[in-house]
Amino acid sequence: MEIIREISLLRARVKEARSQGKLVGLVPTMGCLHQGHLALLDKAKAENGLTILSIFVNPIQFGVGEDYEEYPRHLESDATQVEKAGGQIIFAPTVKEMYPQGYATYIDVERLTAGLCGASRPHHFRGVTTVVAKLFNIATPDNAYFGQKDAQQALVIQRMTKDLNMNVLVHIMPTVREADGLAMSSRNSYLSLAERKAALILSQTLKQVAEKIRGGERDASAIQAFIVEKISLEPLATIDYAAVVDTEEIRPLKEISGRTLIALAVRFGKTRLIDNIILEV
Ligand code: AMP
Repeated sequence: MEIIREISLLRARVKEARSQGKLVGLVPTMGCLHQGHLALLDKAKAENGLTILSIFVNPIQFGVGEDYEEYPRHLESDATQVEKAGGQIIFAPTVKEMYPQGYATYIDVERLTAGLCGASRPHHFRGVTTVVAKLFNIATPDNAYFGQKDAQQALVIQRMTKDLNMNVLVHIMPTVREADGLAMSSRNSYLSLAERKAALILSQTLKQVAEKIRGGERDASAIQAFIVEKISLEPLATIDYAAVVDTEEIRPLKEISGRTLIALAVRFGKTRLIDNIILEV
């Protein structure tokens, strides 16, 4: 397993793999790896001859006052995990390597980024799509792997690759959860014990929402009201948003039909967690 910090060296490794007829898979992450990331890595390994896991805490996707500085960085233990999982390359560029002096180009996916996390985190998706487009140009992957845990992000990236005719297949993998249902996230490490317990309200609420919809509920506002009522009962939780949207345009639905994303963002103290389910109705 090799840790690569320079774009030119990564390009050389990719060129070499291609000359051997290998497919290239990319798993973009911000590090502090957990089983959710490793599931993406496993899938990438199974489908590609060369697998690259990138670790880059991307400054331009964090807003003012967000957790860019505090975001956990554990390259050494991440490397141990990737090595153990049989990963071949970690690409961990510096901020200067990705955004050198004079950097001026950004990618904006319209509409799909207006609501949900885009509403509470202005410029967040612009940062995400820009860094992912750069990683795609650097690693030129055949396949790239993202988690449904960040559903809006994955849908926005799929739209970017389609709209810009990028030659990469974007795979969205299921959310990996702790035994008690909490979606794995690097940010879970911020939670106090009491907040960690309270955070179960997300997966529990989504489970009940799925039951309601499977039971025939089609009124999106009734589902939203249910979510707000349920989460308000948890004193440590503050709702950021509860959305019922389609998966094409990420627009609010009145009546639930077709492929439907039910997405939540909830604050526990200073920690903002997201979770979601996608149902085919
Ligand atoms: P992050 O390091 O949080 O930016 O996440 C990197 C990638 O891993 C993104 O595509 C995430 O959606 C994905 N990911 C994060 N947590 C999970 C999880 N619990 N299950 C599946 N994928 C995840």
